[in-house]
Amino acid sequence: MALIVHKYGGTSMGSTERIKNVARRVAKWHDAGHQIVVVPSAMSGETNRLIALAKEIMPQPDARELDMLASTGEQVSVALLSMALLSIGKKAVSYAGWQVPIKTDSAFTKARIQSIDDARVHKDLDAGKIVIITGFQGVDDGGNITTLGRGGSDTSAVAVAAALKAQECLIYTDVDGVYTTDPRVVSDARRLKTVTFEEMLEMASLGSKVLQIRSVEFAGNYKVPTRVLSSLTDPLMPLEEEANSGTLISFEEDTHMEQAVISGIAFSRDEAKITVMGVPDKPGIAYQILGPIADANVEVDMIIQNQSVEGKTDFTFTVPRGEYAKAMDVLNKTVKEHIGAASITGDTKVSKVSVVGVGMRSHVGIASQMFRTLSEEGINIQMISTSEIKISVLIDEKYMELAVRALHKAFDLEKA
Ligand code: ASP
Ligand code: MG
Repeated sequence: MALIVHKYGGTSMGSTERIKNVARRVAKWHDAGHQIVVVPSAMSGETNRLIALAKEIMPQPDARELDMLASTGEQVSVALLSMALLSIGKKAVSYAGWQVPIKTDSAFTKARIQSIDDARVHKDLDAGKIVIITGFQGVDDGGNITTLGRGGSDTSAVAVAAALKAQECLIYTDVDGVYTTDPRVVSDARRLKTVTFEEMLEMASLGSKVLQIRSVEFAGNYKVPTRVLSSLTDPLMPLEEEANSGTLISFEEDTHMEQAVISGIAFSRDEAKITVMGVPDKPGIAYQILGPIADANVEVDMIIQNQSVEGKTDFTFTVPRGEYAKAMDVLNKTVKEHIGAASITGDTKVSKVSVVGVGMRSHVGIASQMFRTLSEEGINIQMISTSEIKISVLIDEKYMELAVRALHKAFDLEKA
């Protein structure tokens, strides 16, 4: 017998028929002798609908009231799922976040979980009940309802699993796992059986479509084995098979020796590059350029500074394409004259491609293989950045898919 947390996304909860299917699947796990806690999202489209309603009344809705409203979607889900379980003869009980309680800070619409009281839940589980807890929401010290940000139910589920010391957190979703790269770009992309938390974080550009990235950080910090698997399968499929399906997000020490060196190719299409030319090469310059950018809340990713020539250097960095105009504005208005830069240029047609794998720590030659592959395709590398388990290059946007395909093949990722 194990304690297992199931999380179901909006699509899985999308209609009463689907909710009945979720109940069948959950009942199957309970019948097998496990203690089950379910954390569902709102029915698909519901959170959007609620937010749109708010905006009809107040274009920039008050954050506290918005959370009060948006949190109701999950309350509907838990009650319907509980009824679906009761009607097939299971014992079940549903709770809103504040009833558990799931305590958060007071940052409405993007609150962070601080603690979860496990007493009530354990009591119910020991009494043979299936416990259903709203995703996405919590309560602050003042008793106000908070929400965790869009996609936050993933984080709720992992946090509940951590608090209850669950054996595994199963995230049922409309994809069947995490892939070596986006299958829309590489048709023979392969589902990974396991991926480490660190790799999953580095593959955020791919993974974030599957899981709220904060939930992965949470799972890593609290060591919660988390599995992403399909909710579109037959709810009555054999439990053993289901329990081993999807992708397990695991810890490095648990992964096998024979694991491939590279786990995946991540990419981010919509990057922009900015170069500040002819700046004096002296202490404080990087800060003077990037400080105002950070103050404007623009996230900077790759950074390079050239060798200085006659006391002057060029400084290049990338920002998300959607923030390019804002960043340029800041630079032209406040930075350029202040530091005496010769000129500022930019390119909004660049993309980032990364190879990711914990195996890089113990293998050499990954970077050279990556660069050789790109050179064989005639792709020019504009910038390079590395971490212990990732090498990223910035290239012309029009070669992005070619690069992803070539690298996927070069690192044999289509092979199991
Ligand atoms: N219902 C919330 C949203 O749509 C939370 C979630 O689905 O994870 O963002
Ligand atoms: Mg989601």
